[in-house]
Amino acid sequence: MSSFQFNVIGTIESPYKQKFAIPRQPGLIAEARGKLVLEPPYADDDIIRGIDSFSHLWLLFVFHQTADKGWSSLVRPPRLGGNTRKGVFATRATFRPNPIGLSVVQLDRVYRQNGKLILELSGIDLLDGTPILDIKPYLPYADALPNALGGFADSAPETQMTVSFSEQASTYCQKQPDYPGLAILIEKVLKQDPRPSYKKKRQAEQYYGMTLYHFNIKWTVNGEHNHVTEISQLF
Ligand code: SAH
Repeated sequence: MSSFQFNVIGTIESPYKQKFAIPRQPGLIAEARGKLVLEPPYADDDIIRGIDSFSHLWLLFVFHQTADKGWSSLVRPPRLGGNTRKGVFATRATFRPNPIGLSVVQLDRVYRQNGKLILELSGIDLLDGTPILDIKPYLPYADALPNALGGFADSAPETQMTVSFSEQASTYCQKQPDYPGLAILIEKVLKQDPRPSYKKKRQAEQYYGMTLYHFNIKWTVNGEHNHVTEISQLF
């Protein structure tokens, strides 16, 4: 057996500050915008020459927040309600022998700032601070396989969840000129129903909170309806 050591080539800045609320895969929420920040020696114009002719990139990253929890051969995909076990290599679970994640994201813009190279991305499913190991262009002719079998995750997860905003929450979003897509991002995140499977069966009203960017968002769930009650600033 061999082991290899890799260098982190960049770090993700993401609105997702905790695992809870992150969609299961990239692309499910196009409004989830983030930045991949490359610092020297990787903040090099040569290293990304030609990248702007690709609309999408593959990112290989470290599941840094769960890496120390180890791995197991069998995992319970949330997709199957959390009750059925599958082999870890038959899933995209985070608890893998090598805690490496793989996401395809949209590349919106590349620019330089204070000696760093910034790749603006959308449709990300990455936690803030995620260390990136590699970037590769997405090649439609090789990577898009319309006839491929999707096993137990054959199509994007769908929910019947609806979302409404209180007067305070709605006004708060409108007053954030630096975050014009905030209300849509919140709505899409809640439509995905981020609750753990075992809580989805509960009938009584439930209270939740999450952080997106530096906003603290509170909502209630009643049956299939989410109501955003209050938004405030974290600091
Ligand atoms: N697209 C990736 C991730 C799938 S698992 C892949 O297929 O490999 C998706 C989950 O990864 C998300 O729900 C989120 O909670 C988790 N995640 C994202 N970034 C993470 C990080 N840096 N550390 C630990 N978990 C992370």
